[in-house]
Amino acid sequence: MADQPSLDDVVAATVVDPGSTHEFRLADRAQRNEELFPDKDQAKDSLKADAQAIDELQDALFAAQCGSLLVVLQGIDTAGKDGTTKAVFKYTSPLGVRVHPFGKPTDIELAHDYLWRVHQVAPRNGHIAVFNRSHYEDVLVVKVRNLAPSEKVEQRYEQINQFEKHLVENGTRVLKLMLHISKEEQGERLQERLDVPKKRWKFNPSDLEDRKLWDDYQDAYETMLRRCSTPWAPWYVVPSDSRSRRAAIAARLVRRELEAMDPQFPETDYRPEQFKID
Ligand code: ADP
Repeated sequence: MADQPSLDDVVAATVVDPGSTHEFRLADRAQRNEELFPDKDQAKDSLKADAQAIDELQDALFAAQCGSLLVVLQGIDTAGKDGTTKAVFKYTSPLGVRVHPFGKPTDIELAHDYLWRVHQVAPRNGHIAVFNRSHYEDVLVVKVRNLAPSEKVEQRYEQINQFEKHLVENGTRVLKLMLHISKEEQGERLQERLDVPKKRWKFNPSDLEDRKLWDDYQDAYETMLRRCSTPWAPWYVVPSDSRSRRAAIAARLVRRELEAMDPQFPETDYRPEQFKID
């Protein structure tokens, strides 16, 4: 297999440095990065190796019960939240990973504070949870479409930071990936949804309304990345115009988090030779 880029190189290319968020500009981040993976086959090989390693690490995490991992995926329509989840966890047992999509809040969800529905599905010990959209919608769509007063939205950045700090201090690592695509690429993917019969179900005319608000969304994403990239839960911007590289980068970052948890199969309090199975 061709060399994988080092985990440090992947982090350096994608992290929103919590120490200099005031300098961060989303426009400076490429939607296509071919330096990490010069060719697609290399990305595919790297993804496969990492996805297999993630499966093994998740088994050990479950056995060790030494904490949990929350993977937050954000990105505009067609950025690849579903595709990334499928690819990165292709080999992982469904027993150990739960995927939670966050759509428009229900009446009961709206009757509570916006973090209520999120906290309930935070991962339990030994598990991985993937949020397909997340509490960040409450500073993205809610902000762009004026679904809450601006003072309320303004308070949420710090509330979210404190919420994530609470999770981290209580044993959950929080990995946040923003899937970054260009407007041209989104246009092609929306067109593909119309053209390819098996993809038509994915097309939602309201996606075109959001596309008209492209610049407002980019601004809202930039503010979110600046204000919520913290030392305990930094954001990573994943170049996502290339599907294979997007998944390969995401898998490197997920693997890195799990390796940092260093899950070890527990020692048993018996000697196997004590038992005879008849
Ligand atoms: P997806 O587009 O992720 O495949 P859906 O078609 O179910 O899934 O879309 C989910 C929709 O719910 C998105 O338009 C998203 O902006 C919206 N949504 C998510 N969270 C909120 C929220 N807190 N308030 C309003 N709308 C939300």
